[in-house]
This record gives sequence, structure tokens and C-alpha cells, in this order.
Amino acid sequence: MRKHRPGAFSVPVRDLIGRPGEMRETQIDATLAAAWGEGLVSIPAGESVHVDVRLESVHEGILVSATARTRSEGECSRCLIEITAPVEVEFQELFAYPGQEADDFEVQDDHVDLETPVRDAIVLSLPFQPVCRPDCPGLDPITGARLADLPDAEPHQNVDPRWAALMEFASEPAQGADDSAPDSQVSQERRKNSHGR
Ligand SMILES: [Zn+2]
Repeated sequence: MRKHRPGAFSVPVRDLIGRPGEMRETQIDATLAAAWGEGLVSIPAGESVHVDVRLESVHEGILVSATARTRSEGECSRCLIEITAPVEVEFQELFAYPGQEADDFEVQDDHVDLETPVRDAIVLSLPFQPVCRPDCPGLDPITGARLADLPDAEPHQNVDPRWAALMEFASEPAQGADDSAPDSQVSQERRKNSHGR
């Protein structure tokens, strides 16, 4: 009896077949058995995908307009931190009646299977070089530390000159405070002068 076991993204359209002008809305809630996407960001297995679907009967077949929502997981391409992001895509696809011009999608018996167009729309929307934030500074090329975690990204370059200046200041009062030697010189010269007169 089960000729075509309908998948999670199959939508029955028996009531719309051959009735151009008819329209109906429905929803799909599916859980992914396997991950979608091969890049740095993907939709992981077990993630749920929600699709709002509008089905319109047209002469050539069933016109599907859909908005799909899910959540992506991956890592920042600059600092490698784990990131998740909401995903929302819209698409429109004609599912043609069998035996017409070669189309990408066909009405299968009494249903349309939206898995391929939903997956393609979502995967194509995933960023090629995802970032945790638009201005992510990435990793320190020497230490490998995540620069976004270090508020002052260049602490050593700032501190060194200051320390040098502070040390100069610290040594100056020490020389000025030692005034015993100049005083004794002055008193010696005064003594010489008074001696000469
Ligand atoms: Zn980052």
C-alpha cells in the first residue's frame, strides 16, 4: 500500500490538483535527521525547521511560496568561537504536473515534497565566511589568543614607554635631594673668597 512514504517535508495537495485559482496555506514542522550544509556553518542534525507554506493551484501545477525558519551552528571564520544564528529564507517554486516540460520539481501523485527547495534555500543563505560579530578582530597571530576577549589589545606597547618615563622622574628628585655636596662646595668657595680679601 505504501508506494511513496511521504517525507517530513511532503505536503498533500490532492484538493488543489486541477483546480486553478484555488489556494491554501499550511505549515511544516520537521526535525532534521542529518545536518544540512558542508561549510563552517550548517544546520545540525536534530535541529527543527519550521516552514510557512502557501499553495496555489495554477494551470501548470502547484505554485509553492514558502518562508522557512531554523537555526544555524558553526564557528567564526576569524576567531573560531562557536556561533549560532537564526536563519530565515523565502522562496517560490512551481511544482509542475508530470509529463510537461522538464521542470526541476513535479507534483508526485497527490503531494509535493518541499525538502529539496527548502534545503537549497537555507544552505545557500548560510554565510561563506561567518563572523561572531561584524568587527571581530580575530586571533592574535603570535599568541593565538582571541583578541575580542582582550579589551586592551596592545597592553605591552602602551606600558613600556610609560614605565621608562616614570623611572626618569623617579631618579630626578633623588639627585636634587642630595644637596649636601653642592652646599659644601659653595661654603668652601666662600671661605676661599673671604680668605683672598
Ligand atoms: Zn569572531
